[in-house]
Amino acid sequence: MAFESLSEKLQNVFKNLRSKGRLTESDVKAAMKEVKRALLEADVNFKVVKTFIKAVQDRAVGQDVLNGLNPGQMVIKIVKEEMEALMGSTTTEIQLKPGNEITVILMAGLQGAGKTTTTAKIAGKYKQKGKRPLLVACDVYRPAAIKQLQVNGEKQGVPVFSMGDKMNPVDIAKASIEHAAKNGNNIVILDTAGRLHIDEDMMTELIAIKQAVDVHQTILVVDAMTGQDAVNVAKDFNEKVGVDGVIITKMDGDTRGGAALSIRSVTGKPILYIGMGEKLDDLQQFYPDRMTSRILGMGDVLTLIEKAEATVDEEKALEMQQKLRKASFTFDDFLEQMEQVKKMGGLADMLSMIPGLGNQLKGADLDDSMMDRTASIIYSMTKEERATPEIINPSRRKRIADGAGVPISEVNKLCKQFQNQKKMMKQMSGMFGGKGGKKGRF
Ligand code: GDP
Repeated sequence: MAFESLSEKLQNVFKNLRSKGRLTESDVKAAMKEVKRALLEADVNFKVVKTFIKAVQDRAVGQDVLNGLNPGQMVIKIVKEEMEALMGSTTTEIQLKPGNEITVILMAGLQGAGKTTTTAKIAGKYKQKGKRPLLVACDVYRPAAIKQLQVNGEKQGVPVFSMGDKMNPVDIAKASIEHAAKNGNNIVILDTAGRLHIDEDMMTELIAIKQAVDVHQTILVVDAMTGQDAVNVAKDFNEKVGVDGVIITKMDGDTRGGAALSIRSVTGKPILYIGMGEKLDDLQQFYPDRMTSRILGMGDVLTLIEKAEATVDEEKALEMQQKLRKASFTFDDFLEQMEQVKKMGGLADMLSMIPGLGNQLKGADLDDSMMDRTASIIYSMTKEERATPEIINPSRRKRIADGAGVPISEVNKLCKQFQNQKKMMKQMSGMFGGKGGKKGRF
């Protein structure tokens, strides 16, 4: 799961900070030492870590933070803000040309980074938005790459322009734009050839394509699992070819997160999207604030809600959003939330977006049968118990466990999870934006 190990370490540091009523300068310094170690272990660029720790420390010690009412939470808030800044603060979109003008997007990256898959993912996103993308097979060195693009294009319902593997990529790019103009395609996405390592031929070819056609956006695809190598690749590509933005793939399998935390600072280029799986709809827009929330174990309710909105009707999603913000949800809502998550698929990832749940469910058996067991526990509760979980005392727990046919420890665990989630929600709505909670500041 994305950032799992980093997240766990940071949450432990924060737990210590929160538990202290008063904080001294040396408490903060000790905590920052731990944060530093966690970031380095997560393979974050050394210089980036150094600057980050200094920025947090200066702010935490310099201002009146330590004399404030809740210094632990203030320090955590500063960490959150600085981490968002590290990843660019705001979301950056791929820039398109106005109106119906053809936008040419060049996709670059090393072999195996996920370039061809991501190219098809992006095309699907544009198609959903009512654009008319054209995929172009410029990787003439691997016939399998052409086939792969064709298969993925077909899955996405997006046309693929190919001239086989005998033509020069520059000529293919030129011809594809004529083809797009004739066929009414307004976005041309060039899938170029990668190599196993940075090499001069690859760079020269990319530069040649950029000189021959009017490339509007050059997007680099890097593999999160390669950590600092991904950062170095991004630096190199940017210096030699020039890139407008980066897409980080395989974040679903990257427990460390070093690439995502370093790339923006090292290259100055924004992260546009993140790949979260092999399926063609596993591509998420990159939101620095939401990503920070996930890393810090505060969940990512907004992404969760957006996924819910795509599956559930708007009114229900809005209602859930308000309940989550006010931390007034009940076991019935919990049940409904679970039903939605089930519908949305990707259980483990979904649950990690719920504040307070991600870390606890780590290593748990996150399959549908686990959900069914949880549901059967909630179904064994009375209406009153579901609405006011506080009344569930030990004897009620025993009755519920018998009814659901599970050991009492499972009922205890569920009640604890539920209370933790509520507590976390309350803390966060107090910390970031009060009752109303501004969008993106949850
Ligand atoms: P290319 O050589 O850069 O074009 O890479 P491919 O698009 O062929 O992808 C290489 C492998 O990575 C394939 O098996 C993809 O299914 C896989 N892949 C791509 N993106 C992701 C992602 O976001 N998550 C996961 N888990 N796998 C991915």
